[in-house]
This record gives sequence, structure tokens and C-alpha cells, in this order.
Amino acid sequence: MNNSQPVNAIEVEGLNKTYRGNRRIGPKRALKDVSLNIPRGSFFGLLGPNGAGKSTLINILAGLVVKTSGDAQIWGYDIETDMREARRSIGIVPQELNIDPFFTPYELLDLYAGLYGVAKKDRRTDDILKAVGLGDKRNAYARSLSGGMRRRLLVGKALVHAPRILVLDEPTAGVDVELRRQLWDYVRELNANGTTILLTTHYLQEAEELCDQIAIINHGRVIKNASTKELMKHLDSKEMIIQVDRDLDSLPTELEDYNVDLRNPRELVFSYAPSTTNSGEILSSVQNAGINIVDVATHEAELEDVFLSLTSGPDTGDD
Ligand code: ADP
Ligand code: MG
Repeated sequence: MNNSQPVNAIEVEGLNKTYRGNRRIGPKRALKDVSLNIPRGSFFGLLGPNGAGKSTLINILAGLVVKTSGDAQIWGYDIETDMREARRSIGIVPQELNIDPFFTPYELLDLYAGLYGVAKKDRRTDDILKAVGLGDKRNAYARSLSGGMRRRLLVGKALVHAPRILVLDEPTAGVDVELRRQLWDYVRELNANGTTILLTTHYLQEAEELCDQIAIINHGRVIKNASTKELMKHLDSKEMIIQVDRDLDSLPTELEDYNVDLRNPRELVFSYAPSTTNSGEILSSVQNAGINIVDVATHEAELEDVFLSLTSGPDTGDD
């Protein structure tokens, strides 16, 4: 076993996947030349709308889908030539809630630990059950578990071999708010203790709250990859829309230092960076110009706007 610590927990280089399709549906290029490094220790978000290719990428890493071309390494192990070691380094919580209904949570985790070759004395089955909040469901039939419990059981299942990397594919679908918080608390703790986390989601807010780095994927291509802080920095822009009580035929000279538009004779639109300009200052400048304000509204650029503007474009074809 290689004990050195790679810089990147996962490295993906020029990865392509075309599903062959069948008589009814034609071939589908689900990943197009995807290159991505996921730094060791990071909490990394892969964000994209439904159908973007997130699960395809995860399933290639999991060994469930065969890539068409390109390379991927997990903890420095090639997923093809070092498949055993690659798989040992990663735990995957799949998007689907497939759980064999005839096993109890304890049996299921113990079975999986066995499949991963974890010796009986090294198994932490009860610890894991407790950690994912299923200690009291240890011997319940899986079919009696709620959606949220099943999800957490799948998280437990992905952890039986103490992987260095935990991948969660849209894990909060069907999980209520309280359980979601518990799940995130636990995953954050794993991350704080050194586990690299890769989370896919189409919920922007989730990515923004949890992840330190975010890659945005759309139509099979990575269209943005930056630290969350970096992404948020681009968002230092706000609009203030001011309705005035009379028609203006031009911008008052007192306001010419601002980035301001007369959108219609009774509406002034200021664009400004909240980090350097405050809204009170703008309001007093308007009043000092002898203009009476009737109404004020502000609009803040959100990551949502960036996400929408990046992902709303048409597919560039070629599939
Ligand atoms: P996401 O997880 O981001 O929602 P997926 O990776 O599941 O996206 O799907 C990416 C694209 O590949 C979609 O257009 C989807 O319909 C298609 N796709 C996924 N799985 C298959 C498959 N087994 N056969 C054919 N097309 C597929
Ligand atoms: Mg998916």
C-alpha cells in the first residue's frame, strides 16, 4: 500500500463518455473532455443541473460505468490499471436509494466490510451506525427505514473500509431538513478529520454553504472551477433602483461619479460594489441633487445568477 500523500485526491484528465444508446435513443455524449483535480483534504462541490453528467463522472470513478477515453486517478491509483487500490481509497454514496430490504443495517455494513476485506477485529460497524444516527435501528429491517435513514445507511455503507475520499452523489434528495443538517454535520466532521469530500448537487446553496471549491458542469463540460471565495468575489456587485417623484430629462451632474443609468424618466439605476460603496451614501447624493425619492429597491448578484448565466446557454451541439 502506498502511504505517500498525493497532492490531489482525484485527478481526471481528458475524460470522455459516450453512452451508446439503442434503437430508440441515439448515442449520448455525457462527458466531454473533462479535466479536474480534487485537492486532498478539500470539500469539493460538483455543481450542475440535471443531466449535466455528474453521476456519469462519479460512476466512472466508482467503476460502475466504463469511460470512453481519458484518464482518472484516485489517490494516485489509475482506475483501470490499479483498480483495486483505487476502489479501496474511495467510498461512494450513490444517487439511488438501493438497499437490500432483507438485511438489517448492522448486517449490511458488516457484509460490506467483509467484501472490502476488512478484518473482523477492525470493523467499526456499531461506531458507524451510531455516527450516522442509526444506532437504535441496528437490527431493524432495512425496508422499515425512512428515506432519510436509508440515505444515512448508504453513507455508512460507503465508510466501512475507512476510505480517504467520500463521494456523495446528490445525497439530500428526499432528506428532510433536520436529517440533512445531521448528515452535513457528520460529513463536515469527516472532512475536518482529513477525509476528502466530493459532493455533487444541483442545489447551489448547498454547494456554497459546504464546499471550499466548486466546479460547475453543464452539458458534460466543466465550465467553471474555482474556490467558493473566488466565485463569491465576482459577486461584489449590487444594483439600487430608485423611483423619483418627477420626470428627469438627464442625469444630474451631482451623480456623474456613479455608475448610474436613467432607465426611464422616473427611475435611476445605480450599479455599485457593496465592499466600497454603501447604499446610504448613494441615497444622500440623490437627495443632495434635489431629487425626491419615492421608492428604493436593491438587487444583489447571487451565485445563483452566475450559475444561471453560465448554464442557461444552449448545448454547443456535438453530441
Ligand atoms: P446528472 O447526474 O448530472 O443528472 P447523468 O450523468 O446522470 O447527469 O446524465 C448525463 C447524460 O447522460 C444525460 O443526458 C442522461 O440522460 C445520459 N445518460 C445517463 N445514463 C445513461 C445511460 N445509461 N444510457 C444513455 N444515456 C445515459
Ligand atoms: Mg445524477
